Amino acid sequence: MGEYDAVVVGAGPNGLAAAITLARAGHSVLVIEAKATIGGGARTAELTLPGFRHDICSAIHPLGLGSPFMASLPLDRFGVEWIQPDLPLAHPLDDGTAIGLHRSFDATADSIGRDGGAWRALLGPLAADWDKLAPTLLGPHPFSPHLLALARFGVPGLLPANLLPRLFFREERARALFAGLAAHSFLDFDQPFSSAFGLVLGILGHRVGWPVPKGGSQSIVDGMAQYLRELGGDIVCGWEVDSLDELPKSRVKLLDVTPRQFLGLAGNRLPAGYRRGLAGYRYGPGVFKIDYALSAPVPWQAEECRRAGTVHVGGTLAEIAASERATNRGELSEHPYVLVAQQSLFDPSRAPAGKHTLWAYCHVPHGSTADRTEAIESQIARFAPGFRETILARSARNTRAIHAYNPNYIGGDIGGGVQDIRQLWTRPLLRWPPYSTPLPGVFLCSSSTPPGGGVHGMCGFHAARVAHAFMD
Ligand SMILES: Cc1cc2nc3c(=O)[nH]c(=O)nc-3n(C[C@H](O)[C@H](O)[C@H](O)COP(=O)(O)OP(=O)(O)OC[C@H]3O[C@@H](n4cnc5c(N)ncnc54)[C@H](O)[C@@H]3O)c2cc1C
Repeated sequence: MGEYDAVVVGAGPNGLAAAITLARAGHSVLVIEAKATIGGGARTAELTLPGFRHDICSAIHPLGLGSPFMASLPLDRFGVEWIQPDLPLAHPLDDGTAIGLHRSFDATADSIGRDGGAWRALLGPLAADWDKLAPTLLGPHPFSPHLLALARFGVPGLLPANLLPRLFFREERARALFAGLAAHSFLDFDQPFSSAFGLVLGILGHRVGWPVPKGGSQSIVDGMAQYLRELGGDIVCGWEVDSLDELPKSRVKLLDVTPRQFLGLAGNRLPAGYRRGLAGYRYGPGVFKIDYALSAPVPWQAEECRRAGTVHVGGTLAEIAASERATNRGELSEHPYVLVAQQSLFDPSRAPAGKHTLWAYCHVPHGSTADRTEAIESQIARFAPGFRETILARSARNTRAIHAYNPNYIGGDIGGGVQDIRQLWTRPLLRWPPYSTPLPGVFLCSSSTPPGGGVHGMCGFHAARVAHAFMD
């Protein structure tokens, strides 16, 4: 194998983003991927029955569409098409109704009811400020010249998700809607900053929507790979790197791996203090995921759920908070908060005519091997009686299977490590720039660096800029 300016280990969205950024700057780049195909957390495959195409990991892409890096790519030229569901999100309640998060504030306010004005007052200015907030919220550090916009986000964002909805909203509908958004953080709702994720996802729902890529998440990384090849980059699959020593000669190396894997790759080359720091990096709860082939759409009671790309199943704020608390304490929640995506309602390419796919997961303790099939299905059936009768086939994965599928998902943690206030901009360690390591020319570029999890490519983009500066 020849020499390259840059070698990237891992062809996840961040590895590809790093490679594209360097190739665009004129560098020769090689990407090495352990698995037989590229994509990491953005692959799509027939997991259940022929003709049913399932997103194995990521499904819904507000962060993809809201990402300044992704927006800079000519992905449409490579067939990437974002489909906007009728409404981004619905949240069913036991009274048979649902709250809809619509793109429009008016429609959302109508669906919320009495707290509709408060929802708009909280999220409206933040959505308007997204272009000022994005460089910080998707950036390498929390500093910003837009102090007012940042303060407007930071003050509510710092609140625990148990508190913010109770302070801002009087009724359950808006509180539950916010709780479902905040639970994407995987944090205990008593933790400061657990509201920030809810705010970001709410802002993006109004600002860019929660789209699904036509054909599946795989299309995003396929588009990125084609663009990389057009820029002259090389990709090789089926090579699991065990040590930095086996990599082809290059000026820089960028690693789309988490700290624990980096420790293995670098061995004793790392100074003891840094090794100890990385060994203390905290991984979070995992997920139990099920993909379904269905004979018909989910028979949700509430009409808004039948029109939404994503459905947050979990009931009230108190129930969702209890579910997240249990998970963070290492316990299984009896009534887990379940994230559901119904891509085939809006993208017919996902299933044979008249049939549907469904994507669902719940949070479970780190490393849990529990089977949560029954818990997930009874939560969905609670708001969609008759759901079980639509199931043709299912494919389930516990945290062990998820980790085996992708070595970055340690213990089933899909975010590359806990994303609390202590480990967000300081991931993996307090160090500037966070992508650098004590090894000259070796950089981390995975979701274990700022700004963390999601298919946005921003970790890879920022890491590549640091690597580019190193080469200059
Ligand atoms: C079930 C699930 C649902 C999700 N839902 C969403 C969602 O809806 N929206 C969203 O935005 N995000 C979602 N995510 C999160 C998202 O997939 C990740 O945050 C994102 O993929 C992180 O990108 P990455 O490039 O940092 O890492 P990854 O995508 O994990 O890619 C890392 C790559 O590196 C490779 N690799 C690792 N070690 C080596 C090695 N030693 N040698 C060679 N190659 C190696 C891996 O095989 C992998 O391909 C979800 C994840 C999961 C698992």
